[in-house]
Amino acid sequence: MKTDVLVLGAGIVGVSAALHLQERGRSVVLADRGETGGGTSYGNAGLIERSSVVPYAFPREIGTLLKYALNNASDVRYEPTHLPRILPWLARYWWHSSPARLDKSARALLPLVEASVSEHDRLIERSGAAHLIREKGWISVYKDPQKFAAARADAESLSPFGLQMRIIDREDFIALEPAFAGSGEKLAGGVHWLDPKTVTDPQALTKAYADLFLYNGGIFATADAADLREEKNGWSLKSETGDIIEAGEIVVALGPQSGLVFRKLGYRLPLGIKRGYHRHYAQAEGAPLRHSVVDEEAGYVLAPMARGIRLTTGIEFAAPDAPANMIQLRRCEDHARQLVALGEPFEQTPWLGLRPCLPDMRPVIGPGPRHRGLWFNFGHAHHGLTLGPASGRLLAEQMCGEAPFADPAPFHPQRFL
Ligand SMILES: Cc1cc2nc3c(=O)[nH]c(=O)nc-3n(C[C@H](O)[C@H](O)[C@H](O)COP(=O)(O)OP(=O)(O)OC[C@H]3O[C@@H](n4cnc5c(N)ncnc54)[C@H](O)[C@@H]3O)c2cc1C
Repeated sequence: MKTDVLVLGAGIVGVSAALHLQERGRSVVLADRGETGGGTSYGNAGLIERSSVVPYAFPREIGTLLKYALNNASDVRYEPTHLPRILPWLARYWWHSSPARLDKSARALLPLVEASVSEHDRLIERSGAAHLIREKGWISVYKDPQKFAAARADAESLSPFGLQMRIIDREDFIALEPAFAGSGEKLAGGVHWLDPKTVTDPQALTKAYADLFLYNGGIFATADAADLREEKNGWSLKSETGDIIEAGEIVVALGPQSGLVFRKLGYRLPLGIKRGYHRHYAQAEGAPLRHSVVDEEAGYVLAPMARGIRLTTGIEFAAPDAPANMIQLRRCEDHARQLVALGEPFEQTPWLGLRPCLPDMRPVIGPGPRHRGLWFNFGHAHHGLTLGPASGRLLAEQMCGEAPFADPAPFHPQRFL
């Protein structure tokens, strides 16, 4: 089977890239060893985060660092035995989080963040996936009045970005979200971010986009990227059914597993992993949850989703293949139950996902400089659902020789080589 482009990885990033290449007339095979959208794209919090104009940086305030060092916080946890292995990566992350470098990354990402909703909207319309989308934004809430005041000032400082948002006090919040009526005086207020959209089933959205790709003549192959071979005039991959896929160009969109290919090809890119969990809970008696709500102090999201209320956790630093650890999820659940009536969890074992992260908080989108026909598109960290379609567009524009809608230089892998 011959194709122009072989996209490795059918998560939101790979599927979006495949669609953008197909739109530009390329024949494309999309390959994954598992189900479409079955990786990190399966279990995220479903926020198409148009309002995240500043990426998640490494904290620099002494108080916050001390809090995390104690390792009993609910938003960030680390496995002590894993820490020595990731210290060099954390040090780079810290270095890139200085105000000036963070500003550089935020500016580089801004065109992609700005295009995030409109690029999704186009694919949502073409794939008939509007039933998976809610258009009510999301709400961040605060318990501590001082933290609420600081969040309010932070939100207002973003006014140059033209974001639509509303500062809400406790009463406004309860009016929007009666499910939290039992939280008494525990909440100080919040920010209602109005530009973002939310998804009720992120895997179903990725599958809807993949169905559009198939409908328009794209091919899906079940294959293990470990079997990729470099050939004289391109690349080849043996599929599960024994077919050999031959392609002039490949796109590595394997999310957290991208190292499998780039390391084999000799690229030393600092891809780190931030783990995160989710679990679904029944809706307790009373008002249903209407919006995705983020408890910013405890660091979890409650999202009304197709399978129930999905609670997603913040960051866990542990070996990617280490078994799931219930501590962080339990801490978040304890916090959540103080604010809202949650029913029983649906799953015994929580879902565990791996966020693919680069220390400068920017994904790698661009050509592998030492190989012909090698392209990278991975490392979207906390915002892969948000950025998938926009980064697919940026990649396809480069591959097809079009003028890119955003400056691709800050995403080039060369910055680490
Ligand atoms: C708890 C949590 C909450 C999150 N919430 C949000 C959110 O609200 N909004 C947001 O924008 N982002 C969110 N994210 C981040 C987002 O989910 C990721 O950035 C995004 O899913 C990454 O997509 P991807 O396509 O790069 O990777 P993946 O979805 O992991 O796709 C990679 C694909 O590669 C395949 N693959 C791996 N190895 C091989 C192999 N050897 N051969 C063939 N195929 C292989 C996998 O099967 C998989 O399908 C969250 C992440 C977590 C963990």
